[in-house]
Amino acid sequence: MMKSDPTPDAIFGHGFADIIDQYNWDDTISMVDNATIEEVDAVLAKARANKKAITPEEFAVLISPAASQRLEEMAALSKLFTCERFGKTISLYIPLYVGNACTNKCVYCGFNHDNPFERTILSMSQIEEECKAIRNMGPFENLLIVSGEYPSLCGVDYLENVLHTCRPYFHNLTIEVQPMRATDYEKLTHFGLNGVVCFQETYHREAYKKYHPQGMKSHFDWRLNGYDRMGEAGIHKIGMGALLGLEDWRGDVVMMARHLRYLQKKYWRSRYSVNFPRMRPSESGFQPKSIISDKELAQLTFAFRIFDHDVDISYSTRECAKYRDNMMKLGVTSMSAGSKTDPGGYTSASDSLEQFEVSDERSPREVEAAIRNQGYYPVWKDWDSIFD
Ligand code: SF4
Repeated sequence: MMKSDPTPDAIFGHGFADIIDQYNWDDTISMVDNATIEEVDAVLAKARANKKAITPEEFAVLISPAASQRLEEMAALSKLFTCERFGKTISLYIPLYVGNACTNKCVYCGFNHDNPFERTILSMSQIEEECKAIRNMGPFENLLIVSGEYPSLCGVDYLENVLHTCRPYFHNLTIEVQPMRATDYEKLTHFGLNGVVCFQETYHREAYKKYHPQGMKSHFDWRLNGYDRMGEAGIHKIGMGALLGLEDWRGDVVMMARHLRYLQKKYWRSRYSVNFPRMRPSESGFQPKSIISDKELAQLTFAFRIFDHDVDISYSTRECAKYRDNMMKLGVTSMSAGSKTDPGGYTSASDSLEQFEVSDERSPREVEAAIRNQGYYPVWKDWDSIFD
C-alpha cells in the first residue's frame, strides 16, 4: 500500500463487519441442527404468550429439523402476527433493470464480468419508455431499479438521472445497485430515493471470497457495512437478503436475523424488508451447493415472521405462481409481479440476457386477481413523496 492510500478502515468503514466474527458459523449450524422438539415448543409457547418478537437464537430453534414437526402451528402464528401488523394486504412492486454491465465476477451470475455478451445500459429516453410500459401493465407505484455493479457507467450521477426520470411515474423508488458511501446514498435521497436493497449473498466470510473472487464485491466488509451506511444516510427502507443455496441456508438466515436485530437497534428510524431468493439456474451454469425445499422455505418464512412482526417479507417472481398463492396468507407481505429481469424487457425491442429466469409469469392483473381471490387486498401504493 502506498503512503497516500486510504487505510482499509477508511475504505470499508465500521459496522456489522466488526461484530459478525463473534458468531461462529459452525456453532450456529450446530445450534440449529441440535435443537430439540421441547425447545421448539418452549419458543412457540413464549411467542404465543408474549406476542412479542423473539431472539435470533430462538429463531434458530424454529428453523431446525425438529421444528418441521410443528409447521402447522408455526403457520398459524405467522398468519396471526402478519394480520395483526399488516392486515389482509399484499404490496406489489415491479423491478426495472436499467443495466447489465458489471465489474464483478460472481461465479453464480450470468451478468458476471467474464461472461461474453453484449452489455446494455439504458439511456434516459429508454428508461422513460420502460416506465410508460410498466404503467400500462398496472397501477404500480413501487419501483425497484436494478443494475449490475459498474460504478463508472452506472454510478451516482447516472442514478441521479434515473431517479429523476422515474419519479414522475412512481411514488416509491428503491435501488438495488452497488453498495455506496453514506454521502452518496444521502445525496440520492434528494433525487427521490426511498429505499435500498442489497443482498449480502452469504454471511460465511471465507466462502464469500470463493464466490466473489474479483471486483469491489470481493470485499466482504465493504458490502456488509453497506447496510450501516444506508442507516447513517437515513434511508427510509432497507432491504436485505442472502442467496439461499450458496452455503448452508440455515447458517445464513440466522446470521441475517442477527444482522437485522443489530440494524434495528442502531438505525431505528428505518424500516426493513427481507427476501429469501432461492438459487435458480443462471447463464453461468453454476449449481447451488444446498437446495432449500418448498417446505423448508415455508418453515423459514413462518419462523422469520414469528421472529419479527414488523419486517416486510417479500417473495419475487423467482417462485412459481402456485407457491406464491399458497404463501400469500401465511407471512408474506410484498410481491413483485409482471417482472422482466433484462434491461429493456418491458418494451418490445429487448433481447438482452436475463439475470435469472422468472418462474411466475402471470401479468400484474392476474396476480392482483389471485390476491383478491384469497380475500386479500393488493396495495399498489404505500408511500407518498410528500412524506420525504
Ligand atoms: S450478482 Fe450482481 S454484482 Fe454479481 S455479477 Fe451479477 S450483477 Fe454483478
